[in-house]
Amino acid sequence: MKFDLIIVGGGLTGAALAVALRASRLSVALVDSAIPARGPVKAPGWDARIYAYTPASARFLQTLGIWDRLDHARLCAVERMQIHGDAGGRLDFAAPDGGFSELAWIGEADLLLCELWESLIRQHNVTVFAPASPAKLARSGEAMEVALENGPTLSASLVVGADGRDSWVRQSAAIPARVRAYGQRAIVANFRTSRPHGQTAHQWFREDGVLAWLPLPGERISLVWSAADETAAALMALADDDFCRCAASAGEGLLGDFALETPRAAFALRFMRVDSIVAPRIALAGDAAHAIHPLSGHGINLGFQDARALAELLAGAGAWQDIGEYGFLRRYARARAEEPFMLQYTTDGLARLFACRNPLAAKLRNAGLNFTARLPPLAKALARYAASGNI
Ligand SMILES: Cc1cc2nc3c(=O)[nH]c(=O)nc-3n(C[C@H](O)[C@H](O)[C@H](O)COP(=O)(O)OP(=O)(O)OC[C@H]3O[C@@H](n4cnc5c(N)ncnc54)[C@H](O)[C@@H]3O)c2cc1C
Repeated sequence: MKFDLIIVGGGLTGAALAVALRASRLSVALVDSAIPARGPVKAPGWDARIYAYTPASARFLQTLGIWDRLDHARLCAVERMQIHGDAGGRLDFAAPDGGFSELAWIGEADLLLCELWESLIRQHNVTVFAPASPAKLARSGEAMEVALENGPTLSASLVVGADGRDSWVRQSAAIPARVRAYGQRAIVANFRTSRPHGQTAHQWFREDGVLAWLPLPGERISLVWSAADETAAALMALADDDFCRCAASAGEGLLGDFALETPRAAFALRFMRVDSIVAPRIALAGDAAHAIHPLSGHGINLGFQDARALAELLAGAGAWQDIGEYGFLRRYARARAEEPFMLQYTTDGLARLFACRNPLAAKLRNAGLNFTARLPPLAKALARYAASGNI
């Protein structure tokens, strides 16, 4: 079966790319191994996978016609952010400091994924193969072929790997990746709190890891606690009541008592970077192209900007253009060189600086937070960075 491009992976990045190509002349095959053929179904209750979406991501999703269709009663705008060091350091910033009306939007991953799929399955130029697993990737003249397990062989000028951090496309195309385990797990859970959060996000750089509280609609928060493997295992082993007490007191009891609203889940954290996100007839996007520590909350925001940049390039190509040609794909690689690099290394540096148990490092990083707080231009730049990923 022939297409112009095959997207492997229909998570938020791959689905956003497919929707962003809706007005193009390109025929698209979308392959996902885990999502049902008619698209994901929103489970009742709250999803524990909560992401912070930057204003830039909201604008991109708005251009796709997705943002306004989301149930805004399930999104919370972050107006302020407080960062707490592990020895008295403190940095506060508010959306107006960076020139934004909100620093980020907090919302469920499945809410957005369902909306993207609802749009793409109605698209005339997208054919969905799901659930379907690719078995073989091979070059055939001027095309790439993706043979599906127990299914047809798909052929296209370009294959996009949007299949997550263990990307089958990246590995099948032998694109080398530098992977480093952080030796940490991120625990996520949603809570009801006994005090209102005032649309403020908090982050504590604690001795036992990085703790984030992200505000959700009502008196609810999402917790992301990145901690060393042993600490995370101990937190996961606590009884629910003990975990609630521990999570509430780890944040200085600022929001009173906690009651769990979703079960806990834990994710192993890794840094992953490739030298090039393109190869002849291959492009990578989202976590397949770069994996980042969740402390900056920018992973999927990078994925959306990859999808935006790649869709712009592909949709703008003339009918004569071979969209899998390496020289052409290099334009996408150049457009996406700086932002992921900056974010990956800044976030990685912070993760390592605050994981360092040396007392001198502790003094320096807390003094750094307090010093930054006293320099309004720097605090403003940080507010802009939180909201957009750009200084
Ligand atoms: C604890 C935690 C908190 C986070 N918080 C934030 C946050 O606040 N803000 C933020 O921006 N980011 C956050 N992230 C990062 C975010 O989760 C990822 O960046 C995002 O999920 C990447 O989306 P993706 O579509 O690129 O990949 P994925 O979400 O991994 O999707 C990959 C898709 O490919 C499919 N697939 C996989 N393998 C195959 C295959 N072989 N064949 C076919 N299909 C395949 C999968 O079924 C899936 O649908 C967080 C991550 C963690 C772990």
